[in-house]
Amino acid sequence: MLEIDDLRVQLDADAGLVRAIDGLHLALTRGETFALVGESGCGKSMTALALMRLLPENGRIAGGAVRLDGQDLLALPESRMREVRGGRVSMIFQEPSTSLNPVMRVGDQIVEAIEAHTPLRGTAARAKAIDWLARVGIPEPQRRIDDYPFRLSGGQKQRVMIAIALAAEPEYLIADEPTTALDVTIQAQILDLIRDLQRERQLGVLLITHDLAVVSGMAHRVALMYAGQIIEVAPAAEFFAAPKHPYARLLLQALPGAARRGEPLAAIAGTVPPLWMAFAGCRFAPRCDKAMSHCATTAPALAEEGPQHQVRCLLYSQPGEALPREPVVARVLMAAAPGQGEPLLDVRDLCVRFALKAPLFHRGPRYFNAVDGISFQLHAGRTLALVGESGCGKTTSGKAIVQLLRRQASISGQALFEGQDLFKLGGPALQQARRYIQIIFQDPFASLNPRMRVADVLEEGLIALRPDLDATARRERLHTLVDQVGLRRDALQRWPHEFSGGQRQRIAIARALAVEPRLIVCDEPTSALDVSVQAQILNLLRELQREQGLAYLFITHNIGVVEYIADEVAVMQAGRIVERGRCDEVLRQPTASFTQVLLKAVPRLVSITSRVDNG
Ligand code: SF4
Repeated sequence: MLEIDDLRVQLDADAGLVRAIDGLHLALTRGETFALVGESGCGKSMTALALMRLLPENGRIAGGAVRLDGQDLLALPESRMREVRGGRVSMIFQEPSTSLNPVMRVGDQIVEAIEAHTPLRGTAARAKAIDWLARVGIPEPQRRIDDYPFRLSGGQKQRVMIAIALAAEPEYLIADEPTTALDVTIQAQILDLIRDLQRERQLGVLLITHDLAVVSGMAHRVALMYAGQIIEVAPAAEFFAAPKHPYARLLLQALPGAARRGEPLAAIAGTVPPLWMAFAGCRFAPRCDKAMSHCATTAPALAEEGPQHQVRCLLYSQPGEALPREPVVARVLMAAAPGQGEPLLDVRDLCVRFALKAPLFHRGPRYFNAVDGISFQLHAGRTLALVGESGCGKTTSGKAIVQLLRRQASISGQALFEGQDLFKLGGPALQQARRYIQIIFQDPFASLNPRMRVADVLEEGLIALRPDLDATARRERLHTLVDQVGLRRDALQRWPHEFSGGQRQRIAIARALAVEPRLIVCDEPTSALDVSVQAQILNLLRELQREQGLAYLFITHNIGVVEYIADEVAVMQAGRIVERGRCDEVLRQPTASFTQVLLKAVPRLVSITSRVDNG
């Protein structure tokens, strides 16, 4: 058994002493998958690092014990700990690009793990490494074993990481967001592999993730973390069918999906509190819709609420009268009316080709067709989702329509916006069209200029595309914009780094709205966000669409988001649209075999949301 007992981890930070983990207990047995879930910053990854004694330099274990079959790992000398690490307990890290050694062939990295922890040596170890590469689904493993990491895609690097972790034949595997960077089909393959190995070798798996759908398909037990503490532990089926902690219920209600179409998602107000704070009462109290007057002053303990089910909430131990709170789910939105009349955007046979470097002695240019003849229409007030795996051409299509690839690529076909072909426009006509078509990018951290205050970020577009507005009118417009996206007006004078991910995405949305567009290309706008923040952003986008009749071209790989927000869907594979139609029809009865494979690979929560509503 791998056991964590009253673990306390502290970090020194500029703001003061951060209590990253505050009294954590858990026990993992062999053959079991135990999922540790929660939103960013709740302490999940720090738990894994503490367990492996790999804390960052400013961190230390301030108390508690970590035991492996009764032996205290925190008391072992580093040389013995090295045998445990990788040998008996392996870890798959979140970010494969930074976890692999870039100057070492991938095969050598796997062989290193095999030779360090198993009796195999030389050619036998190399043969085993090839075998592992094949098992994690790397094509042509005999050839790829001699590649350096830079030659592999992100998904392949993650699979190599998994091969390294498993090559040592550990008893326990700590998988920290092992599939977050992967496409759903590869994710399904990796999760199957972990399940198989678990059965074969009685592997104990500590699965750390924020993806509740993955957890529901993999885990035997679940622990939900919030602000450095576990707040609910339960068998997985029970957790998803009848969660007891108010935060768990809200999180499940915040998940988008077909069952929630036409209604707002539960948005959990506020953010996770900073962990340098001293807490007198319940850490979730400022955000809790069930909070009582004594919740702010009495700290709840993790208490038994059923066999193997523990909850940290006073509702069960000291019930009282609930404080009046705004209902979390405010009002029901109307589903968008079907698109009628002329489409706002009519894309015909769009091709985007990038020139490739020609090999030596090759005559003429060589091209890569990123988008290969796609056609679709989008009406005002409607949402079309472009879905598919990474590299299928969906982002390229969006960028081409927003006119961001004019210099880099050769584009053919037509993109008729209100009857005008965008690809034929130039000069002032193009400038004018740009005003009506905006884009929101995936990464709210990278898409805002860190050296510009929010007011300047928003005003920049207005100055360029709305020369008719004077300074006073522009200032008024900025106030309206921050109100619309739910930010305070003092946000205008602040810098992007002062905001959370969700707030930055709101700023990016305000920037897109500034020039009163009619079409917004949303390129994975919520994939970098936590579930509750994703719910806030999706609610906001739907509300703006309802109020202003905006059309969205929504690029995503998240089928739950598609089911929730899209009216129509186009499925892309290798630069082509393989299936297109009404969202409910395509997702319920896909006809193209690729769509069927894609949908089958999507992890799902089994019809829990309706039950959660009533809880
Ligand atoms: Fe909400 Fe009170 Fe329970 Fe905390 S203790 S989760 S504030 S009801």
